[in-house]
Amino acid sequence: MITTLCRATGTGNRTRLMGFFGHFISHGFCSSAERPVIVHNTDALRVDAHLWNVGVTALQREWASLPIEEKNWIRKRLEAIEILQQRLHQLFLNGNGVAHCRRCAGECCARGKYHVTLVNLLFFVTRDRTPPSPDFSSTCPMLAPEGCRLAPGERPFNCVTFVCDPVEETMGPAACTTFYATERTLRRLYDEFEQRYAGAGMRGFLLAQARVGDDSPLRRLDIHPAAAGI
Ligand code: SF4
Ligand code: SF4
Repeated sequence: MITTLCRATGTGNRTRLMGFFGHFISHGFCSSAERPVIVHNTDALRVDAHLWNVGVTALQREWASLPIEEKNWIRKRLEAIEILQQRLHQLFLNGNGVAHCRRCAGECCARGKYHVTLVNLLFFVTRDRTPPSPDFSSTCPMLAPEGCRLAPGERPFNCVTFVCDPVEETMGPAACTTFYATERTLRRLYDEFEQRYAGAGMRGFLLAQARVGDDSPLRRLDIHPAAAGI
């Protein structure tokens, strides 16, 4: 049984929500607290963990063998993405975001399963760091008891570009204009990855992995296999 969350299409929600893959969500979760009641399917948890582990291992292997020009293409864009995301996060902080989020107890992280994309994992792989260990029993695999495991500059697009009405109102019109202009620039960078690599895409790393299977997540989509010598 799967239903959508009460606030999935609520005012101000810009998270471009995905389906709830592998979760059984019972009716009646729209209580006063508006919290989903999620009963995990253990097979689905295993599939998620397998897809993630295989994908991250393939990414680490592929990265090691990339030509330097390709590595530079990726690094240059990751640096730009990190700067833009930190800028968005600062605007969110200026809008008293922390206090708002504390009050609502992190409602938007209740829908994060497919938010992490190839780009976010590349921040770790390209810097010789191990990505945080995912928790697929959580509403987002990057959600820890103390909060998000990812730094704002490395967080998914969906997370750093989301502001709800209370935060937006505190930010004010000028900051909102800057915020949305920054979001558009950021989006173009994520799009560049999506158009270039088989394992990229805004629908998330897990779904991309399910799609590419044994294929390389860094296989170029913009080069015909014959031209790439494959
Ligand atoms: S951005 Fe809004 S909905 Fe999300 S956690 Fe903060 S206050 Fe809650
Ligand atoms: S990646 Fe972090 S901010 Fe985004 S939904 Fe998951 S825990 Fe929340």
